[in-house]
Amino acid sequence: MVPPDVDLFTFEGGRLVVDGTTVLDGVDARIPDEGLTAIVGPSGSGKSTLLRLCNRLEVPTGGRVRFRGDDLAEVDPLHLRRRVGMVFQRPTLFPGTVGDNLAVAEPGIPEEAAADALHRAGLDGSFLTRTADDLSGGEAQRACLARTLVTRPEVLLMDEPTSALDEESTRVLEHLGIDLADSGVPVLWVTHDPHQVDRIADRRLRMERGRVIEGGVGS
Ligand code: ADP
Ligand code: MG
Repeated sequence: MVPPDVDLFTFEGGRLVVDGTTVLDGVDARIPDEGLTAIVGPSGSGKSTLLRLCNRLEVPTGGRVRFRGDDLAEVDPLHLRRRVGMVFQRPTLFPGTVGDNLAVAEPGIPEEAAADALHRAGLDGSFLTRTADDLSGGEAQRACLARTLVTRPEVLLMDEPTSALDEESTRVLEHLGIDLADSGVPVLWVTHDPHQVDRIADRRLRMERGRVIEGGVGS
């Protein structure tokens, strides 16, 4: 497959220093605008921080991050977060029903659109009226994915999304990630599990001590 001309994300000497601690130490990397990219590396190497730069939950203190060529420093963060969706390590739903949770992300969402987001997250429409507190861990994480999908993001960031899930729910979420990437929503997926990388990833970036040490540029 011919890679697209413009990267999904481009990191150009991305640095983040917080209170004198260097969290990211000059990240150079290009992430292609297709498929599922795994970000791997030991705990504390900067994987979550790298993802958080991609939707401006963090702003680099040096260097630059581009999203499809545009400098993120010049993109409105609230608009960006609708285009670049994120799913976190632990499913965190608000009190109320799953439908209430989707409506927080997209007020006034039509029922059909909500059901479609649920479907893309591997849940049927009956989950709309289910109480968030009563869901299993795997269902809750899929509901979080649905809540992210209601804004029709162009990209999905997933930060160790299966680390709190059992094996069966893990496999379900892995397939959802692969399907979303195949349907044209590129996915960045942080994991520390090499077997998971083998199962799901089209390519991998390896981080160590705040830098991308493998797979970053020209790959
Ligand atoms: P990973 O996701 O690979 O485990 P993180 O990106 O969460 O790594 O963090 C990388 C390192 O930077 C860790 O040592 C973490 O404690 C530190 N760190 C992350 N964010 C901050 C922050 N806002 N202030 C201080 N240290 C931070
Ligand atoms: Mg992390």
